[in-house]
Amino acid sequence: MTWRWFIALLPTLNVAKAKRNQVVHPSTRIGRFEMMSQSRVPGDHCRYGLKPEPMNATELQRKVDHAFRNVARPTTFTTCRCEECLVLDKLLQTRDHSTFAADDVEMSLCLLSPEGLTYWIPALVRVCLMHDRDSVCDLCDTFINSELGMALPRDDFPQQHPKVASLNPEQISVLLNFLTYIEEKWYAEIAEETPRELARAIRNWKRLAGAQ
Ligand SMILES: [Zn+2]
Repeated sequence: MTWRWFIALLPTLNVAKAKRNQVVHPSTRIGRFEMMSQSRVPGDHCRYGLKPEPMNATELQRKVDHAFRNVARPTTFTTCRCEECLVLDKLLQTRDHSTFAADDVEMSLCLLSPEGLTYWIPALVRVCLMHDRDSVCDLCDTFINSELGMALPRDDFPQQHPKVASLNPEQISVLLNFLTYIEEKWYAEIAEETPRELARAIRNWKRLAGAQ
């Protein structure tokens, strides 16, 4: 190769080297989904190509509240009418998003109907964001690992998550943000391995986001 050719090839070599050294952050993919939902907001800037900024808990809560702001309050929060479900339903009828507390539901989260669970998502996120890994309560554990982390059926996938009512892309995107935030704050930041259930939840919500 002559030196002229070598000079001509230099920029190409630099690009290849830069690509090799590039660290692909796991949140880059999420940023694309976030961008998809944000770009639908009228007047919002198209953020295509920008890396998502790390979110703090307040900002994340604001996004969740915004995404779920139009979810109608169902007349009942449970589908089953057994005594346990009726007691839970009666109690939740007296609550709103500002008065909902972890003690209200505790281990009974699985009794909520998909519409009931979807309605309380902003309040459930608020409870989780008040905790850290060491203070995690049963409610956070159930919400994150059992409800959001529930295995997706393979056959009629990926129409809808089995535990929640039908969600729009913005809602799916913020729930994915929520799960990756929990992974980051509760585990990655202290070099702790992500629990299997949480990893599965993130994987599933990425698939749901990708199907939109
Ligand atoms: Zn029941």
